Amino acid sequence: MRIESQKFNGVCECGENHKMTTRAAIIESHASANVRDYLREFGFEGSFAAIYDENTYQAKALNHPDASLEIVLPPENLHANERATDFVLSKLKGHTVRYLVAVGSGTIHDTTRYCAHKLGIPFVSMPTAASVDGFCSTVSAMTWRGCKKTMPGVAPDLVIADTSVIKEAPLRLNLSGIGDILGKYSALADWQIASAVTGEHFCSRIHELTMKAVQTVYECCDQVVSREEGACAQLIYALLLSGLAMQMMGNSRPASGAEHHISHTIEMEPPAIGVHSDGLHGEKVGVGEIMISQWYHKLVSIHDIENHVQEYRFWTEEELREFWGDSLYEGIAAENDSDAMAGVSPEDLIHAWPEIRKIVNSIPTPEDLEKLYTRLGMKKTLEDLQVPEDKADQILYFSPSVRKRTTFNRISRMIKL
Ligand SMILES: [Zn+2]
Ligand SMILES: [Zn+2]
Repeated sequence: MRIESQKFNGVCECGENHKMTTRAAIIESHASANVRDYLREFGFEGSFAAIYDENTYQAKALNHPDASLEIVLPPENLHANERATDFVLSKLKGHTVRYLVAVGSGTIHDTTRYCAHKLGIPFVSMPTAASVDGFCSTVSAMTWRGCKKTMPGVAPDLVIADTSVIKEAPLRLNLSGIGDILGKYSALADWQIASAVTGEHFCSRIHELTMKAVQTVYECCDQVVSREEGACAQLIYALLLSGLAMQMMGNSRPASGAEHHISHTIEMEPPAIGVHSDGLHGEKVGVGEIMISQWYHKLVSIHDIENHVQEYRFWTEEELREFWGDSLYEGIAAENDSDAMAGVSPEDLIHAWPEIRKIVNSIPTPEDLEKLYTRLGMKKTLEDLQVPEDKADQILYFSPSVRKRTTFNRISRMIKL
């Protein structure tokens, strides 16, 4: 199976000229045995370095591409951070390589895309688990000197996904990929609702592409748990499709909404929450999806919205400082330098309400999600992420401030129950 991303490029009916940098994604059984052929087909020549961590270096069923240099990141405190990038760049010193190949999951990809950007060379992605939809990202999600930061990077030129390797990945990683994809239900709803309320640009082709990814996963997820290779192929296909939809959009709008804001909030460890979670990205998104589904369905049960609307207001500095603490507050304030909700009136919300109710009803109910998560063995609650359950209301209330993006959760500031 291949995703020929080039065929999505060009002028769209939404008025944008979409452009993807990733040329293609190859999803095949034993693809890692044929890397040389794929590289040649896409015009990659000369020497390259392959970057692994200790787990992916030993990954079952993986054929190592014949790189002129193999770099294996040490396991201690392995994050996409200055340590990992310094390690890769120092190993590359004195070698002339034409491109890099990332063999691994998220951390390896972010480290590699940052180094490739620094060196001004392309990179090829070889995911070893279907854990996130960020493989095709154009920016590096880094932890820089302890702070979460989005840093420059490059998208992979080519993706080679070996489904016989992905099938053997730790199940927790592949379940995390399912969580990341199920989060698109609310991410897509948030985008549609924002468009209905604030007039934000909306592209139905990108929406459709991401929705296709969600449906694909909904259909195959049980077989991912039983390690059927075809289902794992569908899962990595969906994750790559979602990543390519983000490339097409030029930002993460189609893939990240209120459920991701919950994940980011937990990750930033605000003092008001006061705990560290070991949850993987997709696990946190999956839990966030249940919380958001519950909240959104509760909101749209309101029939007489005109009796519940109030003027939109941003959080006060005092309450933001209290939740985020002084050190995180500065970043939160800088992120919210503008607010698409500022000009929205109660009448606008009343006008959009029937549409909003329709959109939210396309998100699975929390009961349906819980049933599915239980069946698959996914994390379901804040407690599963080591976050006290009694923090749920605060997380729901403050998480929209983590990004300035309009979500129904941010809009809900105009609704009193
Ligand atoms: Zn479009
Ligand atoms: Zn995500």
